[in-house]
Amino acid sequence: MSYRIAFAGFNLESVTAVPQVAGLDAFERVCTRGAEVVRQFRGTNTVPGGCIKICEDEGATLVPLFHTLLGALGPASDEAVDHFTREIIEGLQKNGPLDGVMLFLHGACWAAGYEDVERHIIDAVRGATSLRIAVALDYHGNIDRRTLRCADIAVAYRHSPHIDMGETGERATRALLRLLRDGRGPGLAVARPDVVIPSIMSATMLEPLASIIAEARATEAAGDCDISVLGGFSYADSVNTGMSVICVDWEGQAAAEAKAEAIAARLREARKAIASAIPVMTVDEALADLDRCRPAQGRPLVLLEHADRMNDSTWMLRGLLDRDVGRVNVPFLFDPETAAEAHAAGEGAEIAVKLAGKTAPETGGPIDVIARVLWTGAKSYNVSGRYQRGAFVDLGLTALLQIGNIRISVVSAFAFGVDGDPFYIFGEKPEDYDVILLRSKTHFRDFYEPLADRILVVDTPDLGPADVRLIRYRQFDTASAYPWRDDAASGREAAG
Ligand SMILES: [Zn+2]
Repeated sequence: MSYRIAFAGFNLESVTAVPQVAGLDAFERVCTRGAEVVRQFRGTNTVPGGCIKICEDEGATLVPLFHTLLGALGPASDEAVDHFTREIIEGLQKNGPLDGVMLFLHGACWAAGYEDVERHIIDAVRGATSLRIAVALDYHGNIDRRTLRCADIAVAYRHSPHIDMGETGERATRALLRLLRDGRGPGLAVARPDVVIPSIMSATMLEPLASIIAEARATEAAGDCDISVLGGFSYADSVNTGMSVICVDWEGQAAAEAKAEAIAARLREARKAIASAIPVMTVDEALADLDRCRPAQGRPLVLLEHADRMNDSTWMLRGLLDRDVGRVNVPFLFDPETAAEAHAAGEGAEIAVKLAGKTAPETGGPIDVIARVLWTGAKSYNVSGRYQRGAFVDLGLTALLQIGNIRISVVSAFAFGVDGDPFYIFGEKPEDYDVILLRSKTHFRDFYEPLADRILVVDTPDLGPADVRLIRYRQFDTASAYPWRDDAASGREAAG
């Protein structure tokens, strides 16, 4: 028989401390509904893309409700969470009869009025219908048993950079269809190592994390299960902030629990090495390094300002403005105000602007600069890199500015400039530059590791610090988690 599977995607990674709240209008701006979801996402490396593929391959009927994905910003408004939860429930009721529903959620969406946004949505679906529920999550989700208490299946991205979004949609949909055919659900377990790491250390190719994830793959090969290792998201202040392991096991609940716990134990053992996998520098250390050692010709040096959560920090840029380090490019700096001023002045104009640093005091504050406008206009494109390949990106009003040796693309919408697209859309390429100042955590590695001369990870006093002990938590109980618990234990030893 042909199963009818509904799809709904509500996705945001929230930094709780970012002051700008993503309201209903922000989610609406990027929301796709009904048959348009299939038209927009078929063939793309995205969760809905993977879901569409499996439904078409296996003869299931996909009933798309909506898809809205805002990427990584601040909190969601309570109104937005409430609105889209209700839209899912009403969509499921209106489009019946259905057999199952695929929910694409982040896992680290934060809203003031909810203890766990994803749990709220999954529980609401369970409360309103008897449908089988599969959940596809981001690798950076904060998840515990309670989040998934009403789900039948849950899987997360296996890679960060998230080059397997499509595959994740495929895994979730395939498991959901198997459940419907078998009439019997798999075991579903969540284990937590009680470890909190900064996003910069969550790249899945870093050791020892890579080896532990490889152990999960070996466990899958030896059995009939799907294991997701989640890096968690330390900047979302939830009751369940931190790493987790999800196991979907067709051999039953006991097997699922044992396998999830075994991998969680490995993460717990390796916590210190995972949390310090790569060195981070201060701005001054990075500038001194740049002065000492110029990048090789044609192989740009990447400065990674990882603590910036809104793509508008000025800590590193301020230092670069004062010195000559060759040709510098700053892709996708978020500053709608400057983009509008540049557009009003027109191409070729020289403008005095207060550049970036406006979303929060922690971003370093705006810089007074005189910039030449090289190009302005509305800009959009389809992603060419592996991360979200094919997905549509609308930068809004965009301006290409030149300040001395520094070229900056100023954009009006938050976008991940983690591949070659920020250059290609202006007829340039990354190799044209000596230094590229990026704002990313892990996604840049897929494109830039093979390309870059060196990657310097710069830690600034911004909202996403490398030392998670600097984060002020209200909901998350740090006492039971690494690194706080280890601090407490070593303090006791010292005292004793
Ligand atoms: Zn992520």
